Amino acid sequence: MERIFDTVIIGGGPAGYTAALYAARAGLNTAVIEKMSIGGQMTLTGDIENYPGFDEAIDGISLGMKMQNGAEKFGAKTVYDEVLKVDFSEKIKKITTFGGEYLAKTVIIAAGANPKSLGLENEEKFTGRGIHYCAHCDGRFYKDKTVAVVGGGNSAAADALYLSRLVKKVYLIHRRDSLRATKIYHEPLIKTENIEFLWNSTVTELLGENKLSSIVVNTSSNSQNLVLDGVFVSIGRRPATDFLNGVLPLDEQGYIIAGEDTKTSIDGVFAAGDVRIKALRQIVTATADGAVAASAAEEYLSAEKEI
Ligand SMILES: Cc1cc2nc3c(=O)[nH]c(=O)nc-3n(C[C@H](O)[C@H](O)[C@H](O)COP(=O)(O)OP(=O)(O)OC[C@H]3O[C@@H](n4cnc5c(N)ncnc54)[C@H](O)[C@@H]3O)c2cc1C
Repeated sequence: MERIFDTVIIGGGPAGYTAALYAARAGLNTAVIEKMSIGGQMTLTGDIENYPGFDEAIDGISLGMKMQNGAEKFGAKTVYDEVLKVDFSEKIKKITTFGGEYLAKTVIIAAGANPKSLGLENEEKFTGRGIHYCAHCDGRFYKDKTVAVVGGGNSAAADALYLSRLVKKVYLIHRRDSLRATKIYHEPLIKTENIEFLWNSTVTELLGENKLSSIVVNTSSNSQNLVLDGVFVSIGRRPATDFLNGVLPLDEQGYIIAGEDTKTSIDGVFAAGDVRIKALRQIVTATADGAVAASAAEEYLSAEKEI
């Protein structure tokens, strides 16, 4: 494809389509490249209750489609394809997909991040029905119930503390004998009466009929069946940055290094949403990033009139 876009956005989640809305509405010739389903991670959840403007919960697929329609109304195009590699060495940037090559004056990377799964049988079947990957999103459904958090890092620690304020009891299941989470979490966790630690423990089975009802937890010396209502898997996320292949600096977990201004180390390239280092990965923070990135792209284009 010979056409040069003002901005190409990689990823059709909330960050990508908010960037597309702002860019297209500002008159930029805009394309969104999405490899799978519009809405990104939002499509994995039925009830979104914490995105402002909806007094009733909205499902992720509908919200994603509303975001896409909103951007396309102003002229943004959607290309269904997967980005395989990028070349940002020239002012006109090259984006290679399965289907061809796209050229762009600016690129907004909004490819997101996916929570790591336990890799157990039934995990997919019980996702949203007892298995969850986002305590802030779904914790509320477990008021006064018993849940487990699996993991030992900062996210697991923060999730366990957050859930302890909502639910009756939290098991914190960790495969080692101490937390990897920073010290700041240790004392509050230990002092919280409704958190019970299961050290050196691994979840090996997820049991139930249509919904999760218990899990099997193994240590090196025993195995126990734990009856509970929900499990929050908090063993890390995998940012979708493989296609960058060294083109941009990433942190040790693979997130793009970019601050609140969404600017990366390369002029004209921006990172928005879950794909960049940030404190809170939610729809509202992803959409905020999308708006900031599009406005930064517009500013860059105005300053670089010769491209
Ligand atoms: C189960 C679940 C429930 C959640 N519930 C809530 C909630 O209730 N409230 C809330 O605020 N947040 C919730 N979140 C978090 C929220 O969905 C994310 O923070 C948000 O979707 C991040 O938006 P994003 O646009 O940055 O990335 P994503 O939503 O991850 O979108 C990225 C998009 O980029 C595409 N992509 C990736 N790589 C490529 C490539 N190489 N080529 C082309 N396209 C590519 C992906 O297919 C994806 O569609 C939930 C997350 C999960 C997993």
